[in-house]
Amino acid sequence: MIHIKSPQDIEEYKAAGSLSKAALRLAGTLVRPGVSTLEIDRRVEQFIRLHGGIPAFKGYGGFPGTVCASPNEAIVHGIPSATTFLNDGDIISIDTGATVNGWVGDNAWTFYVGNVSTEVQGLCEVTRDCLKAGIAQAVPGNRLGDIGHAVQSLAERHGYGVVREYVGHGVGHVMHEDPNVPNYGKKGRGVKLQVGMIIAIEPMITLGTYANHVLSNGWTVVTDDGLPAAHYENTIAITADGPVILTADEDGPWCAMQGGTK
Ligand code: MG
Repeated sequence: MIHIKSPQDIEEYKAAGSLSKAALRLAGTLVRPGVSTLEIDRRVEQFIRLHGGIPAFKGYGGFPGTVCASPNEAIVHGIPSATTFLNDGDIISIDTGATVNGWVGDNAWTFYVGNVSTEVQGLCEVTRDCLKAGIAQAVPGNRLGDIGHAVQSLAERHGYGVVREYVGHGVGHVMHEDPNVPNYGKKGRGVKLQVGMIIAIEPMITLGTYANHVLSNGWTVVTDDGLPAAHYENTIAITADGPVILTADEDGPWCAMQGGTK
């Protein structure tokens, strides 16, 4: 069942979206060669709690972290670890969510660790563009397939893979609401988008195959071929004036994030 939000709900949601974005921005400042993913996780948890939020992912389905930290071939749901250190040339996808006043924020970004190859930077740039293309389709009267088609067609035009098993979703008082928001689809198909829907759009795009599997820890999703994946996510409201990005702060959703000016 899709929960339609009132204008007041959407205003209230912004505190959760904004804190989730600030947490993601903080995570990005901590990314450097030699840092452990658990160090990032601990700092982000402190930050969220200090600002009156609750880490939304911690304990969700038993997930142990505040952030999902997914390096290189990890697509999503990487578990922060004291023994996973970032190395020059890596990429790291970090997903942060904070609950504020009962609303759940959700956003993600792929950061560069030191000097990243132009090939992998290209993957990240196109994935950011996929997110923007998906958001642009999130207008009343369009359908979910319009979002998915925009993401998929752009990624595949560059020869990249589009992950099928994990998708965007409705968000509200719980993290995963209806509808699912796939990163693939056909124009004009699927659920019609209505004013008052809040959805997380989150392309997961791979350099090689999109085939993937879950590691034995039960969480971390990795590409079968071991090639890198990128993941960018914003939560948006569908309004009569078009999509409004709710995971934004005073600097907006992109500015001052790596690659955000592109
Ligand atoms: Mg999400």
